[in-house]
Amino acid sequence: MPLRLYNTLTQEVQPFAPLNDNTVRMYTCGPTVYDFAHIGNFRTFVFFDLLRRWLRASGFKLDHVMNITDVDDKIIRNAVAQNKTLDEYTAIYTKAFLDDCAALRLEKPERLVRATEHIKEMADAIHKLEEGGYTYRSDGSVYFRIAKFKDYGKLSHNDFSGMVAGARVDVDNYDKADARDFALWKAAKPGEPAWDTEAGHGRPGWHIECSVMAIQYLGATLDLHAGGIDLVFPHHENEIAQSEALTGKPFARFWVHSEFLLVEGQKMSKSLGNFYTLRDIFARGIAPEAVRYLLASVPYRKALNFTFDGLASAKTAIERLRNFKFRLDSAKLAEGVNDKIAEHAAAALAGFRAAMDDDLNTAEALAFVFEFLRDANTALDAGEFMEGNLAGANALLDQFDAVFEVLKPTAAAGGISETDIENLIAERTAAKKARNFARSDEIRAQLLDAGVVIEDTKDGVRWKRK
Ligand code: AMP
Ligand code: ZN
Repeated sequence: MPLRLYNTLTQEVQPFAPLNDNTVRMYTCGPTVYDFAHIGNFRTFVFFDLLRRWLRASGFKLDHVMNITDVDDKIIRNAVAQNKTLDEYTAIYTKAFLDDCAALRLEKPERLVRATEHIKEMADAIHKLEEGGYTYRSDGSVYFRIAKFKDYGKLSHNDFSGMVAGARVDVDNYDKADARDFALWKAAKPGEPAWDTEAGHGRPGWHIECSVMAIQYLGATLDLHAGGIDLVFPHHENEIAQSEALTGKPFARFWVHSEFLLVEGQKMSKSLGNFYTLRDIFARGIAPEAVRYLLASVPYRKALNFTFDGLASAKTAIERLRNFKFRLDSAKLAEGVNDKIAEHAAAALAGFRAAMDDDLNTAEALAFVFEFLRDANTALDAGEFMEGNLAGANALLDQFDAVFEVLKPTAAAGGISETDIENLIAERTAAKKARNFARSDEIRAQLLDAGVVIEDTKDGVRWKRK
């Protein structure tokens, strides 16, 4: 069976395939760079990464656009308070976000696009909406008139028929289930950074940015649009209203939403103060792979309760997988094939793929891997795992790691792992023994560059990080 995904629009699990040239045109809502992202945010970004990887494993090519929201109420407030320009302020958190994504091994979208680099296009879109009669102006701002868009509510499946016409909202975030006309363009208050466009002196609202950049790069109809579950209403409902009012075409064929990371039953969020950034986690000596594994291991449509015990179990799971891989790479195996193990490896691989095809059921996919691991480890202990079983076992691990990507350890801070240090020291000792002092000096310098000092003592070489 081919890949199936739950589509929020139809409220059904449906077979997924792109419409044209085998390329998935997808848009995901990116971060607002006003502060460090927390691991709740990263549950959503890890989900985007899993989705990307499984779409590729399903044989599709990707054209994936993600926005960076680098202008909004909070950014403006913080930048002004710190006497920084918007660019100076957002550069700090954009870099932090990208560093965190790299630490979590998240693939880069084909296009990462910044809101402030598309202001003109947004003003043009607002102008077009004005011409279509979808807007009204008030106090220098431009609002979208929701009552004019008949399909409003089709994504969140809310009935907005009793909505108060003309009620407006000015802030970027509101989550009550009442529909209100939202700002497409916000007039600048005195002292705020602003742009002068046909729409006025001010800045675009949050919703219009996603519609405009999605359509600009991917065309009127996307194959897939994804985001956190909290974005269904109002953000994605508003994106649909603006986009379909602009183009007259369906905006996205599939809408895919991931559930929250919870802490003691509540959404992890800045406002509740129950959050951890990756920096907080790393400071406790926890490796990024453990975070990645934990966030990936629960299917995206199930809420995931965050605990440090959960992180510890993730670490143990990764160690079991790495130990197994090490055994495969180093064991002396008898020639031949153990048919039962070979069959199990093939069945586990098929099971893994079927589970991922089933709306990315990562928990079930993992269960296939660990069941095989148990079986194969027992066979290894008993000397019944044979050389001809290596290919099947490695194929399963490769498939696993193409999605989860946790087998290779992250180099320690300073860029060099303990194993690499030990290997270099061993090479240096051998070079000295062979009287190749040029090479031994070179290695000492290389280690020093990586922040490692070595010391020759009568008991051998000692090293420490600077
Ligand atoms: P923001 O930077 O606030 O716009 O949020 C970025 C993304 O993180 C959005 O797609 C949110 O849906 C998502 N998000 C925020 N909090 C959580 C959470 N506790 N669990 C999962 N995703 C979240
Ligand atoms: Zn968006």
